[in-house]
Amino acid sequence: MVTSEYERRIAARFAGFDQDGNGYIDREDFMAAAKALLAEFSTAARSDRGQSLYVGAEAFWQGMAGIADRDGDQRITREEFVTGAVKRLRDNPERFAEIARPFLHAALAVADTTGDGAVGVENTARVLRVLGVDGDVAAQAAAQLDTDGDGRIGEEEIVSAFARYFTVPE
Ligand code: CA
Ligand code: CA
Repeated sequence: MVTSEYERRIAARFAGFDQDGNGYIDREDFMAAAKALLAEFSTAARSDRGQSLYVGAEAFWQGMAGIADRDGDQRITREEFVTGAVKRLRDNPERFAEIARPFLHAALAVADTTGDGAVGVENTARVLRVLGVDGDVAAQAAAQLDTDGDGRIGEEEIVSAFARYFTVPE
């Protein structure tokens, strides 16, 4: 089997999803990501925003499982991630944005500490870091998203950036 550079990049992203580092992606990893985001922004799990985040995390997990969990054991192995997720998401990156959107929408609501419907560059970088994007990459990505330089980033920008990071070679 020939492993392309693209597949190696996707395999590296596996670590971002495998939040607890036990070698496979499952529901617990998505719940851990939601919990970490709530802790980062001091938001209670029982709050409306906390509940929306958990609902979004569950939808994200179900979407990823539908794409990649080929043997249906509720775990996505590295091989399932590379062979399932890579092939399908490369052909259809919009699909990834679609399954990630409810979670990212809820995550931005948690990170919208000023309550005005957009998120600042620094809080966007904090979200990306909690979700497993490398620190330097997260800071650069957040700054680049703010194309008009007003320091505010909206949902469309972060959804497309997230999809790009996880599905397209740099
Ligand atoms: Ca895991
Ligand atoms: Ca599996």
